[in-house]
Amino acid sequence: MAGRGEPSVAASSERLDEDGVRMPAGEVHAWWPGTNQTLCGLALSRSRLRRFHHVSWPDTFPESGGAAEEVRRVCPRCRAAAGGGTGRGWSKGWSKTSPRP
Ligand SMILES: [Zn+2]
Repeated sequence: MAGRGEPSVAASSERLDEDGVRMPAGEVHAWWPGTNQTLCGLALSRSRLRRFHHVSWPDTFPESGGAAEEVRRVCPRCRAAAGGGTGRGWSKGWSKTSPRP
């Protein structure tokens, strides 16, 4: 998985935004594309989590304001496993993916 800094998102539910794009909702976990389980060890096939290739993991944090509108819970184990959340390197993704106010 060299060269990739951010995992994708798996969520227990989903919603459609105003453009009809699927966004995560409910409880969110992180996973690496190409694997079959979340960073905390849930099997994607058995847990019925929906996968969101197009949503970056930091966007699901409520404080990011990105895709977190309907997110009820961010899995703390996935968050820790993905690098702690708010450290250096994440702000670059936020500024790139967040719309201007
Ligand atoms: Zn998790």
